[in-house]
Amino acid sequence: MKLDIATTALLSQMAAGEAPPMHELSPEEARLIGGQMAKGYPGGPAMVSVKDVEIPARDGAKIRARVLKPSESPRGLLVFYHGGGWVLANIDEYDTLGRQLAERTGCAVLMVDYRKAPEHPFPAAPNDAWDALLWANDNMAALAGRKVPLLVAGDSAGGNLAAVVCQKAKAEGGPAITLQILVYPVTDGAMETPGYANPDNQLLLNTPLMTWFWDHYAPNKDDRLKPEASPLRADDLSGLPPAVIVTAQYDILREEGEAYAARLRDSGVPVTYKQFDRQMHNFFAMPGLLPAQAKAVEYVGEQVDRHLAKFSQADAVVVGAGFAGMYQLHRLRQMGLKTRVIEAGDGVGGTWYWNRYPGARCDIESMAYSFGFSPELEQDWTWSEKYATQPEILRYAEHVAERFDLRKDITFETRVTRAIYDEEEMRWTVYTDKGEAISAQYVIMATGCLSVPKQPDIPGTDEFKGPAYVTGKWPHEGVDFTGQRVAVIGTGSSAIQSIPHIAEQAKELTVYQRTPAYSLPAGNRPLTNAEISEMKQHYRDYREAQRHHPGGIPNPPRAMESAHNVSAEERRKRYEAAWETGILTGLSSAFNDTMTDQQANDWVSDFIREKIHERVKDPEVAEALTPRSFPFGTKRPCLDTDYFETFNRDNVELVDVRKTPIERITAKGIETKDGEKEFDSIVFATGFDAMTGAIMNVDIRGVGGMALRDKWADGPHTYLGIGIAGFPNLFTITGPSSPSVLSNMLVSIEQHVDWVSDCIAWMRKGDLAAIEPTEEAEDEWAEHNEATANLTLFPQANSWYIGANVPGKPRTFMAYVGGVDTYRTLCDQIAASDYAGFRTYEADREAKAMSA
Ligand code: FAD
Ligand code: NAP
Repeated sequence: MKLDIATTALLSQMAAGEAPPMHELSPEEARLIGGQMAKGYPGGPAMVSVKDVEIPARDGAKIRARVLKPSESPRGLLVFYHGGGWVLANIDEYDTLGRQLAERTGCAVLMVDYRKAPEHPFPAAPNDAWDALLWANDNMAALAGRKVPLLVAGDSAGGNLAAVVCQKAKAEGGPAITLQILVYPVTDGAMETPGYANPDNQLLLNTPLMTWFWDHYAPNKDDRLKPEASPLRADDLSGLPPAVIVTAQYDILREEGEAYAARLRDSGVPVTYKQFDRQMHNFFAMPGLLPAQAKAVEYVGEQVDRHLAKFSQADAVVVGAGFAGMYQLHRLRQMGLKTRVIEAGDGVGGTWYWNRYPGARCDIESMAYSFGFSPELEQDWTWSEKYATQPEILRYAEHVAERFDLRKDITFETRVTRAIYDEEEMRWTVYTDKGEAISAQYVIMATGCLSVPKQPDIPGTDEFKGPAYVTGKWPHEGVDFTGQRVAVIGTGSSAIQSIPHIAEQAKELTVYQRTPAYSLPAGNRPLTNAEISEMKQHYRDYREAQRHHPGGIPNPPRAMESAHNVSAEERRKRYEAAWETGILTGLSSAFNDTMTDQQANDWVSDFIREKIHERVKDPEVAEALTPRSFPFGTKRPCLDTDYFETFNRDNVELVDVRKTPIERITAKGIETKDGEKEFDSIVFATGFDAMTGAIMNVDIRGVGGMALRDKWADGPHTYLGIGIAGFPNLFTITGPSSPSVLSNMLVSIEQHVDWVSDCIAWMRKGDLAAIEPTEEAEDEWAEHNEATANLTLFPQANSWYIGANVPGKPRTFMAYVGGVDTYRTLCDQIAASDYAGFRTYEADREAKAMSA
């Protein structure tokens, strides 16, 4: 079988329909059959607008046309001429394909219903095609909203018209067409290529039908061989726009496409050529029927991406508009770099945009968990509570965006899907799910350590018929659980914050716990005016202290003393005092060996366990809620308001899934080995694919086409959590193996952004085109990371720090435990020694220096 299965089956169904051969019909009859076939195509993608227009032709007639706009801001204007042998078809029959092209290319598409033969023979069609092109160019601002690149495309006879208008534009000195896309174009009226005689090619388009088309279109044989009908016959093809030429393997026109591609190339025109194997003529215009059709649209889309990347240029692309992306944009713009930020959400704030579950708030004091780069910002923003709520933090992010005019360079509701490095150009092409491709020298992944909710790993998750919510993707309009039977799965920070609120609303709440957590009471309260003005007076000193503290949280200060040095009574006294502060790091800072000495940790862990038993009335429930399988602090501790007390309520039940494992989620609820329990709603507070999830979601290809997913298959390898060998000019903010999640993230974010910005400034000063870490530096950093982690108790826990929460994820400790202060010193020293451990490249592409 020479054709693919779908095509073979389609032809067999058509043969069974016993329609007469087209070339034996009149044009009217043939048009009716073509129209019937098009009715079977699916409707194409929705557009922002679809408008039918009438274009004035030179002879006073009107040319019907349709403008398809895929977005408010199309990135190109594509004039499309449909196929049909200049006799058949129209823009209605091509509507689906037009929409597909508009969606995939991100261009506004003008579909031209040029007049058909035999009523309007040659040169009516090329004249209409040309008049429509001029009209499109003159009306570009109305059609695409602004001046954008002009592209032409067409299939078959439409490909012929597209090639012809390109030649005419060259002869006339404009309009400037930037790309011609010719899908199995007719290029020579001589019909003499061997393909016409090949029986394998006699499919939808066969030699008699092609003869029929030419006879109707250009009955005068001399006309056929004019370049306006046979573009291959033009004397000089140099200076034409770059071309994308697509052919089908079994097509009488394949050789005409090949010949045109070869002549264009010989004339110095850049050509991208692709033959679709096992396909017949017309496959591109049969949406929904043939899988290869969608592949060909995708191929054309990719070529347009590549082409338009030359027009969509930036110095830097920042992925993500959380706090990291926002500050990175601010810094790079200050340095004069043209910077684009791409954000999947429709607003700024990242974590605080997505995590809108009830009770969500920071667990590092608001005044500490805020930007320190702008003294003015510190003064004009006032936090209301010790621990601000999610809405307040989101308002803060919005305020920052407003104050520094960030939004104008952020593209929202757009996801970066791929980033490909071009070694020749030493630039990245960044692709988005909206079809845009941006060429940039630098890519900065500000994609967040905790931004990809973990995929549900419980069987039957899709079967539940009621609403299911994920804390990390909470509905913007909120959820009212009043009167409901609700299940919460998970007892990490998100669950611990939301459970008390859900319990207040729900009729019944059942909490499914796999591992109990260490949680400390937040002691949250409104901030006093005195506290606020005290901080505002001394913010500068405070920021400095943050920057030189291991966790970026200078209060309370970390004791310099071992827990072994004091009596049991004194230890207890200090633990009680730390407990009362309601500060996450209070207990771990009470002594200097909490995270390194098993006994020291046991003492504090036992203290918290006792507290849990004091807070929960039922001793059995208290014990079930008591963490015993890992040392305090080795999984991120939680801060709560009435979490344990919530289990004293009559409407709250705890299910220990270690004893009573969840077997599956059912249509009505959750089934454990004790049977099925019905729920109205289920809340998944099951955490994130942390540290690497968001970076790995983007298909990143570095030097030699190396995929980051392959490089990181056995765990992330980075230098400082900022750079990756083999991926020049790609930076990660708070990337894996930086202190990031073990610190006050805003302190770490600012440190990373500043370091990356300074590095870019240094490169620009030295006229350097690219920088990447060496493998040796990466290995040395990995060794240091591992050794440092092994000096602590951290590796003992099955935490998300180590990837243990995601089934199948490689286990490596993904955060640097050496502290923000030490890390900062290391980063500064590396920068001061001309970026030791990095390799740099001059614009002439030679490796300049390998600084070791
Ligand atoms: P994020 O805020 O996660 O932003 C990343 C952004 O990148 C997101 O908006 C995402 O949509 C976007 N993105 C990702 N991939 C793509 C893509 N391919 N294309 C386009 N856009 C993309 N840290 C603390 O220090 N203190 C706290 O109290 C604290 N509380 C937290 C509470 C919750 C519920 C969570 C989940 C985390 C908390 N954290 C806390 C950690 C928090 O993530 C950081 O403090 C900080 O907000 C991270 O900022 P970021 O900009 O690095 O990442
Ligand atoms: P998390 O800490 O990873 O907690 C997820 C919870 O779901 C854990 O209890 C986990 O149990 C459980 N779980 C996961 N899969 C499960 C399954 N298949 N069956 C049963 N239970 C399952 O996630 P998170 O609570 O979203 O917090 C993540 C991080 O975000 C925090 O550590 C913190 O850094 C940050 N955060 C901070 C705050 C704050 O207070 N400001 C709030 C929320 C989040 P196991 O422990 O057994 O895996």
